[in-house]
Amino acid sequence: MAKFFLRKKIGDRVINGHPWIFGNELGDSQGEAEAGDIVEVYSSNGSFVGKGYINPASQIRIRLLTRDKSEVIDEGFFLKRIQEAWDYRQQIGYVENCRLIFGEADQLPALIIDKFNDYFVIQSLALGIEKWKVAIVKALQTIFKPKGIYERNDVPVRTLEGMEQIKGFLSEPFDTNIIINENGLKFHVDIENGQKTGYFLDQQDNRRAIQHIVRGSDVLEVFCYTGTFSLHAAHYGAKSVLGLDISENAVATARRNATLNGYDDVCKFEAVNAFDVLKQWVKDGKRYDTVILDPPAFTKSRENIDKAITGYKEINLRGMKLIKPGGFLVTASCTNLVPPDMFLDIIGKAAKDAKRTLRQVVWQTQASDHPILFNVPSTQYLKFLIVQVL
Ligand code: SAH
Repeated sequence: MAKFFLRKKIGDRVINGHPWIFGNELGDSQGEAEAGDIVEVYSSNGSFVGKGYINPASQIRIRLLTRDKSEVIDEGFFLKRIQEAWDYRQQIGYVENCRLIFGEADQLPALIIDKFNDYFVIQSLALGIEKWKVAIVKALQTIFKPKGIYERNDVPVRTLEGMEQIKGFLSEPFDTNIIINENGLKFHVDIENGQKTGYFLDQQDNRRAIQHIVRGSDVLEVFCYTGTFSLHAAHYGAKSVLGLDISENAVATARRNATLNGYDDVCKFEAVNAFDVLKQWVKDGKRYDTVILDPPAFTKSRENIDKAITGYKEINLRGMKLIKPGGFLVTASCTNLVPPDMFLDIIGKAAKDAKRTLRQVVWQTQASDHPILFNVPSTQYLKFLIVQVL
């Protein structure tokens, strides 16, 4: 097995628990390694750091899989890691749906697996993990005997690793339109054509957090996707709910979700561009008791962070202006590029411009099946805030 040595001045981050090693952090090496091979990593003074997979074509040159020198990376390794991740999810209370593998936080860098009851959706986002896909599928079959496994590898980040974007069955074909249960509601999930893996499991605890603030109220959900927060609002006693999303497909599924749960009368959905509509509605003097905002990331790179800040500020400013005095704003941000402090700062500035005072009700992060690893800051990405808008 080839050996790679960290450069002298670098390495603290890696030695303290971060699994990524960038190309410019590596010094000497011994032996040859091909893209996707397992290699050993040592500090500059020769002490063992860990084993991981390498990709010379990627800026993240090596991602560590283990820090145990005696651990062999083979099929059994993946079975063990996935079983451990499932044991952990069960221990913290997950029964049916969960993010089973959250990459770095489960010591399986660049691997995402969502469990939708008996169905599994995989994303392998680096070449070194892609190479173990067969072993990963085998492990899922051994542990869960699933009804279906699907890969949603139609994601641009794969091109950074020199891989193609693909999606398809990793098990016998099955009907990819499934129904899941969450918080006493049912939701259609389109595994093949839905966004990301089909459903945003990371908000499952946050959806419950709106329980006490929506009773008897008129709710506006912006960026509603398949209407998950809207349906929760109806379930928790909202008088009326309007959900908006730019995607016709998402809105069609949201309407089917309303029917599925018997809330056709309460929940209405429209396919519109939120930026246009909100501006107009503020002018028109429309007002709601509760406004829910869960926009897309706005940027994928640190260079464009200003774009994200502007987007969050604008949408939250407009959202606040639509809220009756004493009503509630439910607002989220799903990119790790905007850290919690920065997000609160943006919300604070929007409130100042809207001339409103905020009183915090709930301030939390993603559901705990997406664990935050303290040594890997990017594992904390979701910010979820409920404030009363005075
Ligand atoms: N709250 C949802 C997830 C929202 S993801 C859930 O928990 O399931 C963000 C959504 O914003 C996507 O569905 C996307 O289609 C939508 N979107 C992106 N740009 C938009 C725009 N300009 N106007 C309205 N919706 C938009």
